[in-house]
Amino acid sequence: KMANETAKAELGRATWKFLHTMTLRFPDHPTEAERESLKQFFHLFSRLYPCGECASHFQQLLKELPPQTSSRMSSALWLCAAHNKVNQRLGKPEFPCDKLDETYDCGCGDGKAKDGS
Ligand code: FAD
Repeated sequence: KMANETAKAELGRATWKFLHTMTLRFPDHPTEAERESLKQFFHLFSRLYPCGECASHFQQLLKELPPQTSSRMSSALWLCAAHNKVNQRLGKPEFPCDKLDETYDCGCGDGKAKDGS
């Protein structure tokens, strides 16, 4: 378990950024294999996340709020809701999930991003 709160917060910020960016790049019309990959990803992630306290909270959260994988927006909105549950527990403000697209631009440059970058 990490003792340093600053390091834990930094890991959290980097991880959330990656996770939100990943769901916002998930296909609008995923194949069964893509859906299964995303579901397995979150279950494995919740077992391997390096902050043990965070990992066990997140495992519990996944039971209450199972990952949604039917489309890009369903997965992105599910993760936004899950992150808001964590925010709530930590006394942080709720994030407006209608602002996801403008907040996470990965600049991946293959024409799939909403802004066409
Ligand atoms: P963060 O919560 O890290 O968010 C970063 C940025 O993302 C915000 O500034 C905002 O722009 C945006 N954002 C905020 N909410 C949302 C949302 N709902 N959807 C989309 N974008 C959003 N820390 C603990 O102390 N205890 C824990 O049990 C714990 N569990 C965690 C579990 C997981 C899976 C992860 C990834 C992190 C966990 N953390 C935990 C870390 C914690 O969630 C924060 O990352 C950390 O406290 C830093 O908070 P922050 O205020 O910088 O914002």
